[in-house]
Amino acid sequence: AAEIKAAFSDRIAEVDPQVKSYLTVTDELSEKQLANYDSAKEAALAGIPIAVKDNMSTDGITTTCASKMLENYRPPYNATVVEKLNQAGAVIMGKTNMDEFAMGSSTENSAFFNTHNPWNLNHAPGGSSGGSAAAVAAGECAAALGSDTGGSIRQPASYCGVVGLKPTYGLVSRYGLVAFASSLDQIGPITKDVEDTAILMNVIAGHDEKDSTSVKREKEDYTAYLKEDVSQLKIGIPAEYFELDFDQEVKDSVLAAVEKLKEAGATVETVHMTDAAYALAAYYVIAPAEASSNLARYDGVRYGLRSEETADVTTMFTNTRYQGFGDEVKRRIMIGTYALSSGYYDAYYLKAQKARTLIKDDFDRIFNDFDLIITPTAPNTAIELGSKSDPLEMYYTDIFTVPINIAGVPAMSIPCGFDSNEMPIGLQLIGPHFGEGKIIQAAYTLE
Ligand code: GLN
Repeated sequence: AAEIKAAFSDRIAEVDPQVKSYLTVTDELSEKQLANYDSAKEAALAGIPIAVKDNMSTDGITTTCASKMLENYRPPYNATVVEKLNQAGAVIMGKTNMDEFAMGSSTENSAFFNTHNPWNLNHAPGGSSGGSAAAVAAGECAAALGSDTGGSIRQPASYCGVVGLKPTYGLVSRYGLVAFASSLDQIGPITKDVEDTAILMNVIAGHDEKDSTSVKREKEDYTAYLKEDVSQLKIGIPAEYFELDFDQEVKDSVLAAVEKLKEAGATVETVHMTDAAYALAAYYVIAPAEASSNLARYDGVRYGLRSEETADVTTMFTNTRYQGFGDEVKRRIMIGTYALSSGYYDAYYLKAQKARTLIKDDFDRIFNDFDLIITPTAPNTAIELGSKSDPLEMYYTDIFTVPINIAGVPAMSIPCGFDSNEMPIGLQLIGPHFGEGKIIQAAYTLE
C-alpha cells in the first residue's frame, strides 16, 4: 500500500502542475490512513488511492466547493461516502477541482483555476466534476468520486475518456455533500473501467439514516453483473434524441457501439420519448430554484467568508455574498429566486414540476418494455478552454444528461471512441430505478 500510494503521489507531482486536477492534496491524511491500513487489509479498497470532489465534507480538510465563500472552510465531520471509503481501507489522495458549487459544465467556473483535459491540455475536462475525471484519466488516482445534479459525473467522464455512473436518486447517501439542488444531486464513481465502478458502488451504496432521502433496500453485489451477457437485454434507442442537431462523429460512434451490442445478442429497437428540450428547460428552473434556497445559508455568520465591510448586518450579508460568489452562482440565485417568487411561482416552478412528472412517467413507460436506453452522453466532445462565454450555449451541452436526474434514474457514461481531433467520445446507458446492475452488465460487454 505504501508503494502504491508513493507511486500515485509521484504521478501527481509529475502531471498535476499541467493538468491541475487537485485543489488540495491530502498527504498528511493519506499517511494516517496508511498507518491504519493493517487493520483494513481485507477490506474492498485496502490501500487504493481515491480522489474526492471538493464538495464532499472531509473532517479537518478544506472543502471549498471551488468557491471563495468556503475557501478556508474545514468541516468538522466526514460525508457518509468518505466514512465508507475510510472503512473500506481507501487512501484519500486529495480533493478535486470543480465548477463553483457544482454549477457548470467545464470546471471553468472554479474560483481558483482551470483544470486541463489530460487528452489535450488546451481543452476543458468538462464539469462540474472535471477535477475528478481528469485525475482518473491522468492516472493521478485509481478512481474518484464525483457528484451529478444534471450530468456532472457523466459529462466530464465522457470528455476525459473514463467511466462515470450517476446512481439512482437515493441509492448513495448525500449526507455531507454540499447541496446544490437537493432533489437532483447524487454522488457516484468515476473510474478507469466498468469493473472499478462496480467495486466502488459496492462500497458507497446503501441506506443511511442521516439522509432522509436515502432508500432502504437490500445491498447488491454489483460485481456479480460483470459475469452476465446481454442476450436477454432489450435496449431502446430514442429516435428524437438522435434527430437533434449535434456532432456527427459523436452520433456515428454511439450508433457503432449499438451495433456491437446487437452483435453480442441484445435486442435493440427504436423508441419515442418526450423532447429532451423540455427536460433541459425544467432543469434550469428547478435546479436554480433549489440552489437559491440552499445557498441562503452562506450569510457570513455560520461558515466561511465574512466581508470585512460590516457597517451593519445588511451590509455584511450583501458584501459577503457579493464577494464570495462567482458570476454563475449569482446568476442561478437570481433565476431561482425569481422562479420561486410570488406571482411567478405558478408560471415557472410549478410548471417545471409538472413537466418533471411527465418526464419521469415517460421513462417509466419505456422501462415497462425495455431494460436500458442508449443516448450519447453529450452532444459534443470536450470544448477548448475559454471558447464558450454564453451560458445558454453551455447549458445546451447538458441536453442528454439532465432528463436522467429529472427522472431520478441511473445512467453511466462509457468511452466509445474518439473524434478526428483525438478527443474521447462517450455514450450514455440509462437504466430504470435501481437498474445499476443491468447498466454495468451492458457496459462491461462494450468495454
Ligand atoms: N452542467 C449542469 C449545471 O450546470 C449540471 C451540473 C451538475 O450536475 N452538478 O447545472
